[in-house]
Amino acid sequence: MKKEAVLQAVLAGNALPTLSPVASRLISLTAREDTTISDIAELVSKDISLSAKILKVVNSVLYSFPQSIVTIQQAASILGTNAVRSLVLSFSFLQPSKGNDGFDYLNFWSQSLGEAVAARRLMEAIDKNAAEEVFVAGLLQNLGILILARAYPELYRQVEQVVAGEEQKRCRAEMDLIGADHAYIGGEVARNWGFPDALVLPIFFHADPNRYDGRDPQIRRLCQVVNLAGLLSQVYHSKTPEAIVNEFKVQVRQQFGLEERYLKDFLENVHAEVNQVAESFELNIDEKKSITEILQIANAELSVLNLSYEEMNRSLVEKTVKLELLTAELERKNRQLEQLANVDGLTGAYNHRYFQDFLDRELKRSRKRSHSLALVLADIDNFKAFNDAYGHLVGDKVLRQFCDGCRGELREYDLFARYGGEEFAIVLPETSAEEAEAVAEKLRLAVARRRFEHNLEVSNLTASFGVFVLSPENAEVTKNDMIDFADQALFQAKKKGRNQVVVYSPKKKNWFGR
Ligand code: GH3
Ligand code: MG
Ligand code: MG
Repeated sequence: MKKEAVLQAVLAGNALPTLSPVASRLISLTAREDTTISDIAELVSKDISLSAKILKVVNSVLYSFPQSIVTIQQAASILGTNAVRSLVLSFSFLQPSKGNDGFDYLNFWSQSLGEAVAARRLMEAIDKNAAEEVFVAGLLQNLGILILARAYPELYRQVEQVVAGEEQKRCRAEMDLIGADHAYIGGEVARNWGFPDALVLPIFFHADPNRYDGRDPQIRRLCQVVNLAGLLSQVYHSKTPEAIVNEFKVQVRQQFGLEERYLKDFLENVHAEVNQVAESFELNIDEKKSITEILQIANAELSVLNLSYEEMNRSLVEKTVKLELLTAELERKNRQLEQLANVDGLTGAYNHRYFQDFLDRELKRSRKRSHSLALVLADIDNFKAFNDAYGHLVGDKVLRQFCDGCRGELREYDLFARYGGEEFAIVLPETSAEEAEAVAEKLRLAVARRRFEHNLEVSNLTASFGVFVLSPENAEVTKNDMIDFADQALFQAKKKGRNQVVVYSPKKKNWFGR
């Protein structure tokens, strides 16, 4: 729809607020040049309740006159006809309809009143004479919103969704969805009612005062001030109120050369004035907070956000630390598991597989570095008989004691492993034949001297030892050869009567015993 068509539809429909009869007559009266103050006072005074209301406002903080004004005549002569017209118009609108058409009138007029008061106070600092005019212009600048929202409720809900707190999007959204924006509709309706240019044009250009291309500097100022009052009122809905206030300050300085310090009082008190004026107009609004308070709340919210960010950070650190601890614990457990996989469950000695790997590694290392490497195989003597005599459980216990005893005699880098059954393998890196024989002898003695305790009894046991030492000269020997030769030596020790150490000595003809 074209905007003119929307306007016609709106004017023909019943979405327009009704202008009170007094307001209508007052408008036509003030439009005439020969109207006197007395004419106006006479008209208004006829409506006793309206007169009482106007006098209440006239004596309020909005005007702050030192002496009280008791008649409309007095008000009109002291404040001027514009003031009276302004008040009559304000009262004509500032009556929140109880209509149940879904439109929130109270909220709308509450916001509009805030804009009116702000516009008036701002104008007082710029051009005192225009203060009366700007109040009504400020009050009615968004009249078009009320009209459009009532005429096209469904479409206007969509407009609000598009706007979503960003006022600068409103006119565009209204154009797109309805075909006319509220500034145009509000201005045209006001013109239709016969409002003077000083009211119509600020309503018409309030969203974008730069579009006013007329020559009248006062109209231009009215447009600008109404626009700035609208900007400031966004403080109450914006997610970034501080940015709004800063923008307001910048604009006021750029457009009117008003420095920030002149605004301090204004910014601090405008809310209180709105609250009081609302009371004078018998408009039951929610108390407005001060702009300072709004900014403080926003800052507090921001710091709460920051705080929870810090807390988030802290819990993240805690989690990371926990994770690191868990990882360390896991690594430890893994090492334990690995250890377990390498260890014989009964005796705690390294198991057969680990012995094989270890011997393999040591063999290679010894070859590379031309070191000697000793392997000792130990076998407990007559263990079958011991088991038969005391039972397997006692045998197990004794096996453990045997292992503990042997390990106590070895160096840290020697390997003590269970080869199988009651047979054990001891790998002694970098150990010569003499040294290996001495170690085996030491082990033999330790076993023979040990008192194996079980069930309050004590037994003596012996073991036989076969030793093979790999020297740089016989470096071709394989791992299996080593085991085989040590086993041969052990067999010799058994044959020689047990409890003995035998070092493998190759037969002259066949060095490797093959
Ligand atoms: P020898 O002096 O010739 O070595 O005689 P021995 O009885 O020790 O040798 P033999 O090989 O005939 O018997 C080994 C015994 O060791 C058989 C078994 O009862 C015992 N044995 C092997 N492993 C274990 C074990 O894990 N626990 C217990 N309690 N006994 C075991
Ligand atoms: Mg055996
Ligand atoms: Mg044995």
